[in-house]
Amino acid sequence: MGIAERYQRIAAEVEEACCQAGRDPAEVEVIAVSKTVGPEAVAEALAAGACSFGENRPDQLAAKAMALPGAEWHFIGNIQSRRIPDIVAHASLIHSLFEESHALKVDAAAQRLGKVQDVLLEVNVSGEASKAGATPQEAPILARAIAELSHVRLRGLMTMAPQGDLAAARECFQGLAQLAASIRLTLPEGAQGPFSELSMGMSEDWRCAIEAGATMVRVGRAIFSGAFE
Ligand SMILES: *Cc1c(COP(=O)(O)O)cnc(C)c1O
Repeated sequence: MGIAERYQRIAAEVEEACCQAGRDPAEVEVIAVSKTVGPEAVAEALAAGACSFGENRPDQLAAKAMALPGAEWHFIGNIQSRRIPDIVAHASLIHSLFEESHALKVDAAAQRLGKVQDVLLEVNVSGEASKAGATPQEAPILARAIAELSHVRLRGLMTMAPQGDLAAARECFQGLAQLAASIRLTLPEGAQGPFSELSMGMSEDWRCAIEAGATMVRVGRAIFSGAFE
């Protein structure tokens, strides 16, 4: 199977999983995580119907966004302060924000570029030491601080589930969905509408994520490698 076929198969399976979960397929977007492949592979997925791509390194984000401006580029990786201007210049959505100091820098960079930067707050729901993100306890305070910035729009929450354990992944996704619902009520009224995205689920566990309410699944290997055929 090639990249085009794998993308189309995932897109069809996502639609089917939405229907099975009683959800509207239009609510769930597949973010094709292209961090391990070059622009040619991205072009193949783009031609097959993929619209949004995820990158975890600012240099790769910039290079691929410039090579393929017809796609939407999401930043899903570790944020380093000094790379924030590059990230803001190319990302339509940043999934991995969880430090207030970074939020302030994103706000300033977006203001300089005359844009409003869409972001998600990353939460470490599972509490694994290897995972990034705000704790569920810090998340509501951070969310309110981010929602006050004039050049940042808080669109929702993101998490990474423990790998290799679907029951633990399911619990993690349900936890993120519950947290989002409770945070939403504490945001200023104007910030509640845009706060509607849940970025959760990867190649191994996106089905559980859709059942738990994901609006974005971030799928890499199942599209760009044969690992899940
Ligand atoms: C790599 C990555 C993914 C995709 O993982 P796969 O297992 O390849 O689907 C999703 N989200 C983040 C944050 C990643 O770094």
